[in-house]
Amino acid sequence: MALRPILVAPDPRLKQVSEPVSEVTDELRRLMDDMLETMYAAPGIGLAAIQIGVAKRVIVIDLGKPKDEPDGDDEEGEASSKKEKRDPDPMYFVNPEIVWASDDLVLCEEGCLSVPDLYDEVERPARVKVRYLDYHGKRQEIDCEGMLAVCIQHEMDHLEGVLFIDHLSRLKREMMLKKLQKSRKRETVG
Ligand SMILES: [Zn+2]
Repeated sequence: MALRPILVAPDPRLKQVSEPVSEVTDELRRLMDDMLETMYAAPGIGLAAIQIGVAKRVIVIDLGKPKDEPDGDDEEGEASSKKEKRDPDPMYFVNPEIVWASDDLVLCEEGCLSVPDLYDEVERPARVKVRYLDYHGKRQEIDCEGMLAVCIQHEMDHLEGVLFIDHLSRLKREMMLKKLQKSRKRETVG
């Protein structure tokens, strides 16, 4: 696995629409491994491939799993590992599609590894059903609510070249982009 640099807005590559994946290959799994490692190192809870400059419809998410939850249908069965309050729970989504969204909306504060240190509230459907291919290329469907619903919709926006700041007013968005450009200039000096 390898860490990849994360693109920061207003990098034009972040506005690209990502291409569907034709097959889940070992090479694609390597990309997903790199994405996960890069996301953990950032640290973040979700990452789309385009954020590391790869215009493919792939996202990874890890919201963690509460420690005391019984493992259920999980095959790992490592009930003994003791780290933080949450266990890693990596999720991989290839060619994700929203097949249903609830009418009720939820307002949630979002941030983004490509919009570092800036946060604002975005309104989205509270629940969505997503169809996708998993790490092994198997067709799956998942009902998402709470943080997962917010996170998956945020990451899927990236596949369309949309950032959470694109959901805000133009004034707010321009303010944020100005801040990013300022902090970027400071960084490139060193
Ligand atoms: Zn993001």
